[in-house]
Amino acid sequence: MTELSALSAVPAGTRDGVLRFYFGPMDCGKSTLALQLNYNHGRQGRRGLVLTKHDRSGGPRITSRIGLGSEAVEVEDDLDLVALVLAHKPVDYVICDEACFYTVPQIEQLADLADDHGVDVYAFGLASDFRSRMFPATQRLFELADEISRLQVEVLCWCGRPGRLNARVVGGELVRTGEQVVIGDTGADPIRYQVLCRRHYRSGDLGDA
Ligand SMILES: [Zn+2]
Repeated sequence: MTELSALSAVPAGTRDGVLRFYFGPMDCGKSTLALQLNYNHGRQGRRGLVLTKHDRSGGPRITSRIGLGSEAVEVEDDLDLVALVLAHKPVDYVICDEACFYTVPQIEQLADLADDHGVDVYAFGLASDFRSRMFPATQRLFELADEISRLQVEVLCWCGRPGRLNARVVGGELVRTGEQVVIGDTGADPIRYQVLCRRHYRSGDLGDA
């Protein structure tokens, strides 16, 4: 009994932050929810920092498909997220959009922020890449997060089933090999992404799109 309570004792005056991860396929409203969360916390007088990587706008912003936007810090691979937050003190919470593209050490830094600095971390991202394999950063978030939520905004495959997987389409064909992260068009062969149900991801049937 004594040992247990000693182990679970939290030093007075410290407050643990929470690490939450919200995931879903493209177009499921992740960035919209990230922006809404930022707005809600800001209204309560909490001080936040908004981070993103490879946002569709191409700039240091979060943008959502329904037209909302916010200034954001672009997360380069060598950016230390603990140092970043400490440089902006006081910070109550951090919104991490496109967290699937962060490095694994950066996900560890998010856990440090929650545990050692009392910062609440809300991370958003894709679960799997175009090969239907989990992103390394996403895997680490699944392993470390206090709470994990699949976003409920329904994205449908062309057939009407729930969209689960992000297909990469090149020249009208679903491709299953290549670099894990390719953003948008890259020269001669335009690349696009399409959300499919599991059945049609596996069969490669893109419908009429
Ligand atoms: Zn389908």
